[in-house]
Amino acid sequence: MSRPDDRPVDLRRAIASHALHAARHVLTAWYATPFHRSLSRREAAFRRYFGDVGASFRSAPRTWQVAEIRPVTDGSAGDRRITEITLTGPLGAAPPVPGDMVALLWRNPDSAVARALPALAPTATTPVAYWTTPRPCRPARRSSTSAETFLREAADLGEGVSSSRWTTATTPRLAPRLYTLSEVAREGDHSRLRIMVSFHADWPERAAAHLLGLRVGEEVRGWVLPHPRRVPGLVVPQSREPIAPEAAGPGLAVVTGSGIAGVLAALRAGVADDLWLVWGTRHPVAPWLLQELETYRAAGLIGRLDVVVSAGERPRRVTDVLDDATGELARRLTRGDWIYVSGHTATLPAVRERVQAVLGPTTKARIEAMRYIESG
Ligand SMILES: Cc1cc2nc3c(=O)[nH]c(=O)nc-3n(C[C@H](O)[C@H](O)[C@H](O)COP(=O)(O)OP(=O)(O)OC[C@H]3O[C@@H](n4cnc5c(N)ncnc54)[C@H](O)[C@@H]3O)c2cc1C
Repeated sequence: MSRPDDRPVDLRRAIASHALHAARHVLTAWYATPFHRSLSRREAAFRRYFGDVGASFRSAPRTWQVAEIRPVTDGSAGDRRITEITLTGPLGAAPPVPGDMVALLWRNPDSAVARALPALAPTATTPVAYWTTPRPCRPARRSSTSAETFLREAADLGEGVSSSRWTTATTPRLAPRLYTLSEVAREGDHSRLRIMVSFHADWPERAAAHLLGLRVGEEVRGWVLPHPRRVPGLVVPQSREPIAPEAAGPGLAVVTGSGIAGVLAALRAGVADDLWLVWGTRHPVAPWLLQELETYRAAGLIGRLDVVVSAGERPRRVTDVLDDATGELARRLTRGDWIYVSGHTATLPAVRERVQAVLGPTTKARIEAMRYIESG
């Protein structure tokens, strides 16, 4: 998993963000030339993604309200859990569609802000000047706010504060975190979005801890982005260069933890056909979600369902399922089923090894055609 860019923003980085912004414009113009007509489907999707991300970040962040919070796995185990959070908000321009993701802003907890304050300013209301954090298509600009707001909303205090000579130009910066939408629904002039948040007890207090500390009625701010690695069949309608939609046909999804989010988005949108879903979690899945998956099986969206739990007396992993069903795996892959792999980074190479054992050198062509999606 790539680490979000939390580097401090001093004058040098602010200038660099403007240079990057200009380079982006040049690249976009270059990509529009005829030299780039013969891109693979995957290359075209990523080129389009970078354009769409810039367009999203150019606008101000949207605001959603937390409407519901429900456990996806047995939360009592404590060390690791997954929670689904429902957000509602106005549709706005370019409303989200199934397959999209959100980049969410988070805030440092009160305790971290109070610990950091003496290093930055004499009081919470002391004004501080700073360079805003650059985002794609939004280079840094000079701004000012209170010391408390800077510490709560712009600095990344996740690892604590160590230096007494700490300034707005030397503190790490809070970067938004990405979450794949597990559902997108339209309710009149509002959107209802769902995200699945994984949480490990030993992670520092950043986005996941913030999101899981929210209560119903509280607000979250962020941007909607098109996910470049979406489940086949989920198209990108807001794209500036739409790829012709096509029926994706049967597929195989091998996912761990909250990696199921993109698959759920497809199932909840009715975009699946004879799907073989292999889902591994650390702790048992909540009954409400198992029942929901059974309704998709009854409707024919899911053809085969394997949900396995890796903790407890009889641990079982997604790779165990694949190894016990090599015949089914080979049958599906050789007839051309798409494959979607998402979740823990260790899952990706483990599944790739098994897919390559069947498809051999043709695996690469399936990746380029976006019929084999690896979403870390
Ligand atoms: C395209 C994309 C889609 C994503 N979709 C989801 C999603 O649907 N649900 C979700 O919960 N998260 C998702 N993530 C991860 C999410 O953006 C955050 O990274 C995650 O919530 C942790 O954020 P944090 O600020 O709490 O912790 P961080 O400070 O970012 O991380 C704390 C520590 O935990 C490690 N860590 C963070 N996340 C993971 C992980 N998943 N597995 C193993 N180690 C990890 C980091 O390496 C770091 O050492 C997605 C990431 C990407 C790039």
